[in-house]
Amino acid sequence: MLIDQQAPGNSVHVALGGQVSRELAERPEWLRLCADVRESAPHEKILEDLSHARSTLLHAGVSEDLLNGIATGLRHASWDDAVEAFARSQGQQVNFYLGPMRAAEAGPSKTGLFLLERRPNSAETVSMLEQATERIGKAMFGAPCSFMGRHVEFYDLTAAVGPLADARASAIALFTPFYFGGWTDSARQQENRRSLLLHNVVRSRFERLTRPLVDGLHIDSRPSALCDASDEELEDAFTLWLTLHEMMHASGPMPLFAEPGHKLDLGMDYGPIEEMRVDMSAFIALGILEGELGERATLAQELIVAERLLRSIRVGNALAPEANGIGKSLDGEHGCFWGATLHAADALRAVDGEIYLAWKEAHAAIREVLTEIYSGEAAARVANDAPTLLKNKAAQIRQRLFTKKGEDYALPAALDDHYHRLHAPDRMSLTFPDC
Ligand SMILES: [Zn+2]
Repeated sequence: MLIDQQAPGNSVHVALGGQVSRELAERPEWLRLCADVRESAPHEKILEDLSHARSTLLHAGVSEDLLNGIATGLRHASWDDAVEAFARSQGQQVNFYLGPMRAAEAGPSKTGLFLLERRPNSAETVSMLEQATERIGKAMFGAPCSFMGRHVEFYDLTAAVGPLADARASAIALFTPFYFGGWTDSARQQENRRSLLLHNVVRSRFERLTRPLVDGLHIDSRPSALCDASDEELEDAFTLWLTLHEMMHASGPMPLFAEPGHKLDLGMDYGPIEEMRVDMSAFIALGILEGELGERATLAQELIVAERLLRSIRVGNALAPEANGIGKSLDGEHGCFWGATLHAADALRAVDGEIYLAWKEAHAAIREVLTEIYSGEAAARVANDAPTLLKNKAAQIRQRLFTKKGEDYALPAALDDHYHRLHAPDRMSLTFPDC
């Protein structure tokens, strides 16, 4: 993070960079390459720039076969070599890509580039969780959890031109091969599928949008442990949370990608329920690991709660200010589900602009709503019409937890009132000065 300035409205602006991006920013050949990608120059021109920047990129740690794959893509519009070489760059200190990409699972792609610099401390925690899939799954579902062959890695996004930059702070992860365009050979892209979590984006979002309200979060009668957590402890909490989040998408009676698109096809009908299921399951899994993780587990649980109750619920409440209802975004409505679930169970009270959580009651409320969701998913899994069952379950949960407001829903009045009185930024925009 380099510069941080208050932008107009309710949005903060953050500039991201890293050691390697700063070194590259001193090289005119790198800046030329970035400028031509930004201006959508013809691929022959970008290819010429790439050959001028080749030794600089090799020196920065980008592998030769990746640069060759990108050159093939620019020459022949066939991107399988590049995407496969990127998959093979797993774990490398610097990851670079240039080619057609998107900042979401589907939709049109556009030529862009990005630079990722690896976070030093997360690999051990990820592998500990990879080894705990069986234990967590048996305790929660009676069957092992899974990552479905995906490997989770933590990188900082330090330079971006095109889709990842345009997505502003809404893209916090990159899933291969889906975020790349122009490849055709699915069998070839099955190997080494990567889930790259963009640590500095998530962390900045926490620092700018969640942190300002952390003092107002009380767990039972004490302040949240987040108030005094060190940088390293917070980084560890993010690693635990986000790795478990990815594990849970791939676990349970109806994993996100197991069925032929049942959940994905339902879009915003079921998406926010899926995100709630996943984060609440990560919360419960942390409880299962508490014996060995101790306070690390509690800090990660409080981080999940803070991100939902202090940040994303505000996004959900602010997205449709004219309707004064809950805005349709995965992040926003997901936060509203957390608030409404805990509030309905009397585990959350909002008093004088601050939030008081009863920790034991919060656990019980989370377990209860998860039991409901999982029994719905188990039934949908064996039903002829899974999408309808899932859709009805989502409607039921909304009706129970939210208040009807015209065609839309709002938070229960006491919560709605609390969140409309808070004044803190709820959006973040990003720039990358090194490209
Ligand atoms: Zn998710």
